[in-house]
This record gives sequence, structure tokens and C-alpha cells, in this order.
Amino acid sequence: MYLIPIPAFNDNYLWLLHDGRRAAIVDPGDAQPVLRALQENALQLESILVTHHHHDHIGGVAALHEATGATVFGPARERIPEPFTRLEDGDTVQVLGLDFQVLDVPGHTAGHIAFFCSNVDGHPLLFCGDTLFSGGCGRLFEGTPAQMLASLDRLAALPADTRVCCTHEYTMSNLRFALAVEPDNTELIGYHAYCASLRAHGQPTLPTSMARELLINPFLRTRQATVMAAARGFDPAAHDDATLFAAIRQWKNQFK
Ligand code: ZN
Ligand code: FE
Repeated sequence: MYLIPIPAFNDNYLWLLHDGRRAAIVDPGDAQPVLRALQENALQLESILVTHHHHDHIGGVAALHEATGATVFGPARERIPEPFTRLEDGDTVQVLGLDFQVLDVPGHTAGHIAFFCSNVDGHPLLFCGDTLFSGGCGRLFEGTPAQMLASLDRLAALPADTRVCCTHEYTMSNLRFALAVEPDNTELIGYHAYCASLRAHGQPTLPTSMARELLINPFLRTRQATVMAAARGFDPAAHDDATLFAAIRQWKNQFK
């Protein structure tokens, strides 16, 4: 299987998964770069997977469906271009002969879903939309901090070697914030330097891995003593899982 991040807009990646003949696309906010990639690689688009309703994730769905006849799979409780197969937690969807599990991960949007396959060429693979980013997480547009924390907890419980396909290249700005939260985290310092050199060479920092995110992502580390102390420094009233998480999220929203 080939896994290709197609850049779109300023900082989106449209993830293309293909076997040399058949392809699936995740969150196609724009049809043009996908059609180009299909043509260049002589691929037949079979499936379109959608994680949530934001325009930068669905803008190309209708045109791709029309051009290729690919089946659209999306979140049962969100409004995306019809027709589509409505998916919710616990569903399994067959994509290029692989079984992807559907996980409800509300927080960024109310009906946000993620797609997880336990074995793609020997590694688990996750398409998590705007729920988890490398070094960060999505903004809480429609959910509560407690909901987002529960969603991130579910993702964090996936196998450590899971390849994590996030839909935005926000890594460098996320890591700048992560360093403000945990200035002494040596994994984080090393990863920041590594990602800086990738970006300097025009390379994507994604996919990331769950193992790495557990070591460097402050939003997966809100129960670590260092992160809890930093959160209380921002909001002295933060006192439990949800309020500590909310403090880190609020701090990031204001961080320059
Ligand atoms: Zn979004
Ligand atoms: Fe987005």
C-alpha cells in the first residue's frame, strides 16, 4: 500500500491510500489535486472517507464522486454532500480490501469520526481528521473539553506503532507551544529540531506515530505532573482532568 499526503490550501493534507491500481482519499477539501494524482498514477478512486463536515475536508467530495463514482463514507451525525454511507462508532468499513474501524471522536465537531485499521503492511493506521495533530489537537468548535479529552484518550489507547495521519501541517507551531508547556522535555526538544529540518527541506512532518505523540504532545500528556503544573500556572483554578485539559487548550488558543 502507498500512503501519500497530497498538499492542499495552506496547510491541509488530503491522504491518498492506494495499491497501485485502486485508491481511497480521506477528507478531500479540494478535488483538483486528487484528480491530478489519480491521473498521474493511473488509479481508480474507489472510496472517499470523510471525518467531519468542515469545508476544507469536504469541498472536493461532490466533484470527486461525480468524476469517479467512488463511494462516500462519512459521519452519521454531520451534514456532508449526499449521497453518503453514514458511519458511527463500532461500524467497520471495507476500504481497498482493508477493514477500517470507525471511532466517534467528538470535540472539534460534534459528530467527528476517525478511521482505524489494525494492519496496513504490518502497521496500524489512523486517519484522525482534525482531532489529533502532531504536537496538538483540534480546536473545540462544537464540543466540550471533557469530550475532546475522552476522544484523545481513545486514540491514545491505540497501538503505539500506529501511523497517525493528521489533516493539517500545524506541527511547528504546535511544537513551539509544547515547548512553552514542557521546556525540559528532551524528546520534545529533539523532535522539534527534527521537524524543523524536515520543513526546511519542504518535507511533511506527517504521518506521526502514537508512540511519539505520547512523548511530546501536551494534549495527550495533561495527566503528567509537569504538564499539570504548567496548566495550573496558566489557570490556577484548574483542578481535575477536564479543567486541566481545558486550561492547556485555552492557553494554546491565546499563544503567540
Ligand atoms: Zn476541521
Ligand atoms: Fe481542517
